[in-house]
Amino acid sequence: MRVPVPTAPRLTRRAREIRPSPTLAVSRTLADLRRRGVDVVDLGVGEPDFPTPRFVKEAGIEAIEADRTRYTETPGEPALREAIAEKFRRRGADAEPSQVIVTAGGKQALFEACQVLFEEGDEVLVPAPYWVSFPEMIRLSGATPVFAPSRRENGFRPALDDLIPAFSERTRGLILNSPNNPTGAAIEEGELARILAWTKERRIFVLYDECYELFLYDGRRHASPADDWAAHADHVLISGAASKTFAMTGWRLGWAVAPKDVIAAMSGYQSHSTSNASSISQAAALAALTELERAKESVDAMLAEYALRRKLVTAALNAVPGVECPAPDGAFYAFADVSALFPRSGAAGSEEFSQLLLERGRVASVPGIAFGDDRYIRFSFAAAREEIEKGMERFAEFARGR
Ligand code: PLP
Repeated sequence: MRVPVPTAPRLTRRAREIRPSPTLAVSRTLADLRRRGVDVVDLGVGEPDFPTPRFVKEAGIEAIEADRTRYTETPGEPALREAIAEKFRRRGADAEPSQVIVTAGGKQALFEACQVLFEEGDEVLVPAPYWVSFPEMIRLSGATPVFAPSRRENGFRPALDDLIPAFSERTRGLILNSPNNPTGAAIEEGELARILAWTKERRIFVLYDECYELFLYDGRRHASPADDWAAHADHVLISGAASKTFAMTGWRLGWAVAPKDVIAAMSGYQSHSTSNASSISQAAALAALTELERAKESVDAMLAEYALRRKLVTAALNAVPGVECPAPDGAFYAFADVSALFPRSGAAGSEEFSQLLLERGRVASVPGIAFGDDRYIRFSFAAAREEIEKGMERFAEFARGR
């Protein structure tokens, strides 16, 4: 009898074409150094270092104790969908629960939106620098991401003039993220209005990711399509999440508000993939959203601390000769142009630079190539101030070539 020769399972083209994140090598080295007991400062990871607010955690615990541990409706508990709709109504957007879906994180909302809105032959505009998952989500839908670089003189804020050259007759979508990961850039209100009018005229569907909406500095106001919902509710999806807002990354709870048909399609898609977001997480998020003023106390405390760290990190980075780092408008990332240091460090680009900074300088960062700009690296300031200070000292030493 012939013994079958083991062969590797055949993977689909879809799976083979997923591009591994350039952060992978950095995470591997980080894990390896830590295993060996090396003291590394991690300014790579992009998640709040704060605990979930106490009363929100308690709502989750109560849900467990009350055995609210069963499936919920696929698009979310009616009370939570209503609370999310109400959050939008408070901003003047006439949203109702049938226009809301609750998802396992903001990421799932955007992924599902791409699945139901885009397909082969479509092009989707993505201002660069962009969040790492946008291009892959678009590719997984069958569509093609088309990058529209934002101008650095304009603080990388999205602008209509930068989108127009990337437009073609195949353009079906646009993904905007404000405040932006990795640049922190927040779109200006007037510019958003211009972009929305332009996309409406061309029947371009806009995915608007506002998961950092509450983290803006220097008194900036968050600009959102919700501000002119009556005019744009038919071609815009707004996604948000409890993840960053309420320091709940591990709870996996996000949402989207969009036209009813889009929400129904996303719900159909979700019903055959993950079903509902965790019932416990939904109960916790419901507490945060219905007692928003109470939750805001925690958010404001986080924001005040992020504001101090933002000053600290940008001052430290700009003090290093050859480094340029504008203060971000929002979010908790410093995106620094370190390309002038490449020759001295021996790095060919941001990936190698990040890797060397980690190996020799013992500071973890994320290479800008992951976000579509190879001149930069991203430092997260969602880390304790002492860690940031230590990381910045090490970075300065590394930059001096020591
Ligand atoms: N959108 C942006 C811009 C992000 O930075 C992230 C997380 O880092 C997400 C979406 C996904 O967030 P969630 O953890 O809610 O899925």
